[in-house]
Amino acid sequence: MNPLDTLIELSNQMELEHAEESRNFNPPASDSNADKPACFSPKVPSEFTEKEKRAAFVHPAQLPNGKKTVLLKTLLSSACERDCYYCPFRAGRDFRRATFKPDEFAGLFSKMNQSGMAQGVFLSSGIAGGGIRTMDKLLDTAEILRKRRNFRGYLHLKIMPGAQKAQVYRAMQLADRLSVNLEAPNTERLAKLAPHKIFIEELLQPLKWVEEIRNSEPADKFWNGKYPSSVTQFVAGGSDESDLELLTTTHWLMKKVRLARAYFSAFHPIRDTPLENKPAVNPMREHRLYQASFLLRDYGFDLEDLPFTADENLPLHNDPKLAWAQQNLTERPVEINQAERRELLRVPGIGPKHADTILQARRTMKFRDLTALRKMGIIVARVAPFVLLDGRRAENQLALF
Ligand code: SF4
Repeated sequence: MNPLDTLIELSNQMELEHAEESRNFNPPASDSNADKPACFSPKVPSEFTEKEKRAAFVHPAQLPNGKKTVLLKTLLSSACERDCYYCPFRAGRDFRRATFKPDEFAGLFSKMNQSGMAQGVFLSSGIAGGGIRTMDKLLDTAEILRKRRNFRGYLHLKIMPGAQKAQVYRAMQLADRLSVNLEAPNTERLAKLAPHKIFIEELLQPLKWVEEIRNSEPADKFWNGKYPSSVTQFVAGGSDESDLELLTTTHWLMKKVRLARAYFSAFHPIRDTPLENKPAVNPMREHRLYQASFLLRDYGFDLEDLPFTADENLPLHNDPKLAWAQQNLTERPVEINQAERRELLRVPGIGPKHADTILQARRTMKFRDLTALRKMGIIVARVAPFVLLDGRRAENQLALF
């Protein structure tokens, strides 16, 4: 197989990995214009063939600093000795496997990078010969990219289950972001998805090591003089877990190991796996989980603030921030001229940047109607039912807008 065909083989299921995808970077819908994913198209150089252009290995992405980019997402190998129930790469499943040698992949990626086809890379792998050996291959690849190929762009490296602390340390010296997919929120749920993964020792431990290392070593020892961020991904609905379980673990990780964010991939069945007859999960569920996780991370919400239903899930039909406001602010609106930042952040239509802009503006002015809010780019129809402006209900002015 030539390297490009190998890449096509290895990348054709990478939509299962959500990391850095632009569609997942929406703020709560109540703070933006639409309750649906946003997207943009990558630029693929004209000299690439139709086959190359169609290949699914480059993905529009948004980096942690907000910059848009095009990311190559691939595995180093689709051979795997584990048998996770949901996974297309599980051992024994009949399909054509492919593997890159570290220098082979680094050479191909360098060409793609130089041509402008891919600006960054997300690199994972199936496990062959154990997690430690597989992690070594990922590290070798990263090392060649950084040292021999002089690649200085964005690199997201997957940490293999069972990797050692010294390997995590080395990965932090090479990558901008590290991830360990927990897949499920706890040991019991993981057993329903991945019988040979060990939740605490194999999956949670590397995330704890990243944080331990960040707390004990200066940033200049790591790639680009910065600590890499850490993220995880869950298979939402794959183990019949509730949203409360997923968000409890997410919140714990954000507080205890400074997880930058969690990704949620709605379960959908893969043919010829033990879960092939399990119904697909509504993609709206992952969207609500993203919104709720942003409320926990950026908006000062606690788990108990989220509008869980009796079955401990989020309502699918309503944005969680809007649902909270409808229950709590309709009768007790927030006075824009006096509210603290954390109170402003509870108002649908007001995100962290808007809250800061309002606080700044309040030093020199008083909000008496919706005009000034609208000039700040705030969707006043969202805000109006939940705020007072100089003691008066803002929603009474909506007809003017
Ligand atoms: S270890 Fe990873 S690649 Fe292997 S079966 Fe499990 S999820 Fe799939």
